[in-house]
Amino acid sequence: MSIENAKEMLLRATEERYSVGAFNVTNIIQMEAVVDTAVERKAPLIIQASVAPSKALGPKVVASVYKVLAESAPIPICLHLDHCRDVAFCKECADAGYTNIMIDASKQAFEENIRQTREVCDYVHGLGDLTVEGELGTVSGVEDQIKVAEDEAALCNPEQAVEFVEKTGIDIFAPAIGTAHGVYKTKNPKLDFERFEQISKLFNSDGAKVPLVVHGGTGLRPDVVKKLVALGGCKFNVSTDLKHSLIDATYDYISRNREEYNPGKIDIFVRQAIGEKINYWVDMLGCAGKA
Ligand SMILES: [Zn+2]
Repeated sequence: MSIENAKEMLLRATEERYSVGAFNVTNIIQMEAVVDTAVERKAPLIIQASVAPSKALGPKVVASVYKVLAESAPIPICLHLDHCRDVAFCKECADAGYTNIMIDASKQAFEENIRQTREVCDYVHGLGDLTVEGELGTVSGVEDQIKVAEDEAALCNPEQAVEFVEKTGIDIFAPAIGTAHGVYKTKNPKLDFERFEQISKLFNSDGAKVPLVVHGGTGLRPDVVKKLVALGGCKFNVSTDLKHSLIDATYDYISRNREEYNPGKIDIFVRQAIGEKINYWVDMLGCAGKA
């Protein structure tokens, strides 16, 4: 099993209407905790590293750890580079062994987004069985969420979405529908379900063809998550939740054991906390037992 093409993994999810958890990691302990829990739950998995941790650890280190973990795991696992605005770094990570590359040129004008995304697709597809994720519209930081959600222009335009996917050749598509990165300041973030449904129908009503990603999973209510999964969100990105688990668990352990100098014990405690968070998401996304 182990390393799998992300598009194939996600088309299965689209057809069966579950979603694959795509969990952002910043270190090796997190990677192991995420993989262990997904294995326990028999859930397909996407490990994600954004640009900062990828640069801090080095793409070759991240990809090597991924390869070792994935090849010995009885579940399919992909390694995704998250939100990279730098075409050269996208190529470097693909060379290093990341299997799904997200070029995020969504802040660029439409034509320039197409041009940069196309360039990454041409390169990455030339390396073999690798895939590319592209974004259209703006998935904002949470501080901009309301503004963006109320600004139609910042959300993904469905007609442009079709043109974007066709002209770029991307495998996996992230349409902006009003979700945001970070912690939502309101219990009811304004999401455009109708727009998402319309985009989902455009691509996948006649058999699953283009997997759709929901960014900014952290903080969405379970009923909202389930609704987006039912509408065709087959990859759910979760980052902030795991950062909080890592930092809160570390702080909690150290404050209760201030005199102890045993990093291994902190790691065990952190892994447990991350495992609990992954279980929460796996239950919501319906991906347990799908590997
Ligand atoms: Zn994102």
